[in-house]
Amino acid sequence: MNRDGPLRSIAIVGGGTAGWMAAAALSRVLGTQRIAITLVESEEIGTIGVGEATIPPIQSFNALLGLDEDEFVRETMGSFKLGIEFVDWLRPGHRYFHPFGTYGVDAGAVPFEAMWHRLRQAGQAQPLDAYSICAAAAAGGRFMRPVPGGNSPLSHIGYAFHFDAGLYARYLRRHAEAAGVVRREGRVGQVIRREPDGFIEAVVLAGGERIAADLFIDCSGFRGLLIGEALGAGFEDWSAWLPNDRAVAVPSANNGPPTPFTRSTARAAGWQWRIPLQHRTGNGYVYASGDLSDDEAIATLLANLEGEALAEPRLLRFRTGRREAFWVGNCVALGLASGFMEPLESTSIHLVQAGIARLLEMLPTRAFEPADTRRYNRLMTAEFETIRDFLILHFHATERDDTAYWRRLRTMAVPETLAERIRIYRATGRIFREADELFTRTSWLAVMDGQGLCARGHDPLAATMPLADAAGRLDRIAHVTALAAQRMPSHADFISQRIGGGR
Ligand code: FAD
Repeated sequence: MNRDGPLRSIAIVGGGTAGWMAAAALSRVLGTQRIAITLVESEEIGTIGVGEATIPPIQSFNALLGLDEDEFVRETMGSFKLGIEFVDWLRPGHRYFHPFGTYGVDAGAVPFEAMWHRLRQAGQAQPLDAYSICAAAAAGGRFMRPVPGGNSPLSHIGYAFHFDAGLYARYLRRHAEAAGVVRREGRVGQVIRREPDGFIEAVVLAGGERIAADLFIDCSGFRGLLIGEALGAGFEDWSAWLPNDRAVAVPSANNGPPTPFTRSTARAAGWQWRIPLQHRTGNGYVYASGDLSDDEAIATLLANLEGEALAEPRLLRFRTGRREAFWVGNCVALGLASGFMEPLESTSIHLVQAGIARLLEMLPTRAFEPADTRRYNRLMTAEFETIRDFLILHFHATERDDTAYWRRLRTMAVPETLAERIRIYRATGRIFREADELFTRTSWLAVMDGQGLCARGHDPLAATMPLADAAGRLDRIAHVTALAAQRMPSHADFISQRIGGGR
């Protein structure tokens, strides 16, 4: 059989968020004339699709698809997100904000955080929020898109979205089908592999229809029908560090305009999310089943809603970790089939997007060069592992010792990669971005500081600047940040007047 030449066909198994994201992006970039794209999904099985929060890189995914952002927000009943408010994470009664965008600006080679730590140690710095336009706007319930160029804090606004996952999948489906993706309804009952390389030749639906393709994308959810069940890719379990394995989710009525941020509130054995949409609020309690019963989780969630529950609570079980290989032979796994980490920093959709971007970067021919596969797996592993470390930081660096759950997490041994970052931060307050990892210096600083880690010293670079100059600089940043935030419209007005939503 001739295995040279470009791909002629792609089959996507699964029509959840991951499947339709892949279908929309691949059809947009590759077209469907030369490469036929088919998506199989089973309505009977359904999707996970709980309320979704995202992070700023989703803007580049929307741009790749050529989406009109206003239309996207209207169609998904979305709202804007400037960051995440963490309540009770360091200790009950404490809160901090993890903003998008940046804190202030660097002074040439001297990073913002170097100046801030030095001033803080001299008793002259304000809390971090004072230097972030996203934190200031979120506190005032305001939102606007960044104004490009110039030195104004308004040019540093970073944002993402909250949206209704079901509406999002439907919206992407419309785009994908308009671009020529063919949808097949049915349950995959059999996966046929070829000799001698074990590549997938076809999937067979319960009704007997056979779908053959050169490349298969496994978006079948937690089960990993192709990557796991058919191809045997193992699962690296991270529950020793991230023990949460269940969530109960329930939508509730809005009791005010949507806030431009996600809220995460620490609870006895996990944490509760609050994701505001135009028409309702998504809520969920993510917890460790070894520490809390489902009934207790449901009762806690229902007792902590701001508006009336709009449905029965839904129970979701998951396992934290990643596939040992994301790409095996002619199959690439995306979404829950590739692994899962709790939505504490809203990273699942980003991982789907990152997988799609890398797949396009390493688009195979029918010869499937193994070096591409190895590179893809290496890069995706790094992507998963930095997110893992960032999540662990939230649970580990805490003063909470009110339950066995928190006592265990705060005293556990963390991955060496994270331990090293913590050591460096404690010594000098220095933070860094490894290679082109997802989380920015702003993110690491917000959570290191918010979770109570204290730097003993400061980056020696800060001492290259007179203390008074650094103080003047940071005072000006705080001043213009506060003024700029006051000029922003309210989030509700922005949605109704500029987007035409919320009606
Ligand atoms: P699914 O939604 O499970 O879809 C699987 C698809 O495969 C379905 O269409 C199903 O019909 C199909 N399928 C399965 N088996 C077969 C078969 N045999 N034959 C045919 N079709 C089949 N992500 C974020 O980015 N932000 C968040 O705030 C967020 N919150 C979350 C909260 C929780 C509690 C959970 C569990 C997840 C959350 N996520 C979040 C993750 C997000 O929901 C998923 O990453 C995303 O929905 C992608 O899911 P998926 O498409 O991979 O799988």
